[in-house]
Amino acid sequence: MPTDPPTATPDRAAGKPGNGRFAPSPSGDLHLGNLRTGLLAWLFARSTGRGFLMRVEDLDRVRPGAAERQLADLAAIGLDWDPPVVWQSERLLLYRAAIERLIAAELTYECFCTRKEIQQAVTAPHGPMGAYPGTCRNLTDLQKRQRRAEGRPAALRLRAGVTEFTVTDRLLGEYRGAVDDLVLRRGDGTPAYNLAVVVDDADQGIDQVVRGDDLLPSTPRQAYLATLLELPVPEYAHVPLVLNPAGQRLAKRDGAVTLRDRMALGESPQRVLGLLAESLGYTDATTPSGLLKQFRPETLPREPWRLDPNGLLQPS
Ligand code: GLU
Repeated sequence: MPTDPPTATPDRAAGKPGNGRFAPSPSGDLHLGNLRTGLLAWLFARSTGRGFLMRVEDLDRVRPGAAERQLADLAAIGLDWDPPVVWQSERLLLYRAAIERLIAAELTYECFCTRKEIQQAVTAPHGPMGAYPGTCRNLTDLQKRQRRAEGRPAALRLRAGVTEFTVTDRLLGEYRGAVDDLVLRRGDGTPAYNLAVVVDDADQGIDQVVRGDDLLPSTPRQAYLATLLELPVPEYAHVPLVLNPAGQRLAKRDGAVTLRDRMALGESPQRVLGLLAESLGYTDATTPSGLLKQFRPETLPREPWRLDPNGLLQPS
């Protein structure tokens, strides 16, 4: 592999902490759980002297205007970030350069499988559950030509050299999880999430990734990919999600779950911030900076936050 990754992390070289970040996908308004994760990412970063960056992950699932609303809501509860806001859709050249490096290192292959074919295929005999079974891993040139002639759009996959990889999580400890031949570039040419996130985190000098624990299973893949690209692996902290009273992930249908929903019911952004802080075990907070002194990662709740959005409306 070439030895000069397309990234610059001068602060890291100087031994200073790098940056934390929040990276929402603009598919709709953030709900209280997303806002809580954003608050935690801010607290982790600011309490350790890190910069805090905002990245809009708009490579897919974009709802027009959603990113602007998300940023406005995060600002309304008092979060700030270091400019500029980064939009993934403006960074395609960076992703392409990383993909080219992996192609040059013969670490990729074209995959012509449809989603349905992958679902129907049996998991690879020695691979992790749900892993891509490697159908297209060893196609001959003739087979590739045939598939192209059928007009099948090819995704590009990583030729992974491992089936598992271990990462260290600040809250959860060591986590060993599956690595498969993950997609790097989708059939429509869009860089895949796992590739973009790895490239961006390194390029932005992010050495601390705080996000919802639904992303924990993707983390060994991302850390492995970072090492293949000779990029530093950040510190991770995966935080619990918010669940509705039935124990499912909080969703729109659960009631007044966004900041705008809460404000329509007469709650101020400060009150919503206070509610998020209470869910973390802190009382009397009206601003994120008011929480900084009290913030102790080790004492954070490790269980999901159980929230009844309708119950919130009853006087306590
Ligand atoms: N964009 C992803 C999401 O909103 C988060 C990615 C990340 O934090 O690494 O679920």
